[in-house]
Amino acid sequence: MGLNETDFSVPRISVVTAFPDVVKGYLSSSVLGRGIEKGLLDVSVVDLRDFASGDYRQIDDYCYGGGGMVLMAAPLESAVESAAARENRYVVYPSPQGRPLCQELVEDLLSVAARKRLVLVCGRYEGVDERFVRRHVDMEISMGDFVITGGELPSLAVIDAIARLVPGVVGSFDSVKEDSFFSGMLDNPHYTRPEDWGGDKVPETLLEGDHAAINRFRRREAVGRTVSRRPELLAKAGIMPYLECGVYVLELHHPVLDRNGRESTTSVTGMDLHDIARACRTYGVRKFIVATPLESQRELISEVASHWITGYGAEFNPDRADAMRGIKTAASVSRALAWINEKERRQPFVIAATARERAGSLSWLTLKDMALRAARPVVFVFGTGSGLCEETLASADAVMSPISGGKEYNHLSVRSAVSITLDRFFGFR
Ligand code: SAM
Repeated sequence: MGLNETDFSVPRISVVTAFPDVVKGYLSSSVLGRGIEKGLLDVSVVDLRDFASGDYRQIDDYCYGGGGMVLMAAPLESAVESAAARENRYVVYPSPQGRPLCQELVEDLLSVAARKRLVLVCGRYEGVDERFVRRHVDMEISMGDFVITGGELPSLAVIDAIARLVPGVVGSFDSVKEDSFFSGMLDNPHYTRPEDWGGDKVPETLLEGDHAAINRFRRREAVGRTVSRRPELLAKAGIMPYLECGVYVLELHHPVLDRNGRESTTSVTGMDLHDIARACRTYGVRKFIVATPLESQRELISEVASHWITGYGAEFNPDRADAMRGIKTAASVSRALAWINEKERRQPFVIAATARERAGSLSWLTLKDMALRAARPVVFVFGTGSGLCEETLASADAVMSPISGGKEYNHLSVRSAVSITLDRFFGFR
C-alpha cells in the first residue's frame, strides 16, 4: 500500500474490555494520548460490565464441558452494538488463533478504520463464547504463537501500530517510513550520546557529517541485518532504496534464438518500447537499454522516443515523456555493459532471464539476496524472439530460473517478463 500523508481520514476505533482502566491508562500516555487529544485518532473504550445482566453484573461463566471461565456472548454483543451499527463497524477479536499481525495488516486495518469503526474485542480467561465470534467477528488477529491473559495488550498494540501511521502522531512521518517493515526491510541500528560508552564507540561514519556516507552505512547495516536475521522478509521487500548502484534493464535483439533454435536478429516493437520504459520508470530503473547491432533500428528507437520526449507526444502525454527519457540504445550487450561500467565506476552484476530450464539457474529470491550484497550495478538481460542464446547466458553472472505458472505452456511476452521481474525485486509490497 502506498501510504502518503494526504491519504488519511481520522481512524475510528473502539475497544470492548472488562478492564477499561488498563486500556485507558496506556491510551492517555505520551504519543498516543497526544494523537487522540489533537483529534488525529478517535478512540473510545467500552466497558463490558456496563452491558452485563443481573445483580452481579455477570459477563463470564463456566465453560460447558469443563474448564475455566468464558466471556458470555450477550454482553459482548450489546457492547459491540453500542459501539456502531453492523454496517458501520468491523469487529476484530485478538486471539492466539488469528491471523498473525504484521505491517501490511496494520495498514489494512488503518484503511478499514478510516471507513468504518474498528471494534477490538478483548477476550479473557478461556476466551469468548464461540457463538459471539461466529455472529459478530470479522477477523481474528494474533500477536504471535504464545498465549497471554487478555486481549487488552494485543488491542493496544493494534491501536499503537495504526496510530504511528497517522501523520502528526509520531513527530516525523519520514522516520516512520524508515522503521522496520515499512519498506519490507529491517531498520538500521541507532546510537546516541555518549560517543564512547566504556570503550564501546559509535561507528565513525556516523560522526563525520558526510550524509551520503551515513546513508550508505545505514543502508548496508539494514541490509546486513535483514539478510542475516530475517532472510524471509526479502521476498516482499522492495530493495531498490537499499542498492548501492543503479539498476538497468537490457532488451536484446541480437544474438537471440529463432523458433528453430538458430541465432537470429529480431526487430524492435513499439509496444516493448512503451511498456518496458513505463515499467522501468515505475520501479526506478535507471535506464532501459535496447541492444541491436542494426543502426537503422537504433535510429528508429531514437525517433519513436523523441516523438514522445520533444515532439507532439510530449505535449499530449508528459508522463510518457518521463518514461521514454529512460530509453537508451546500444549496439551490443558488451557495449551496453561497458557504458554502465563507465557511468557507475563498478562492474555490472548481470542477471540473464530465460524461459527455458537451465542447469545452474537461480531463483529470483536468491538473486535478490545476491543483488543486495553485490554492491554493483544490476543489469537484467532479457532476450527477444525465442530467447537468449547460450553464449549470452554463459557470460552472465547469474541466470534467473524461468518465471513460470507451473504449466507446460510458458510463453510470456518480454514485456510481461520484465514487469514481473521488476515487481519481484523492487515492488512496494
Ligand atoms: N484458550 C485460548 C486459546 O488457547 O486459544 C486462549 C485464551 S487467552 C488466555 C485469553 C485472551 O487473551 C484471548 O481471548 C485473547 O483475546 C487474548 N490473547 C491471548 N494470547 C493472544 C495472542 N497471542 N494474540 C492475540 N490475543 C491473545
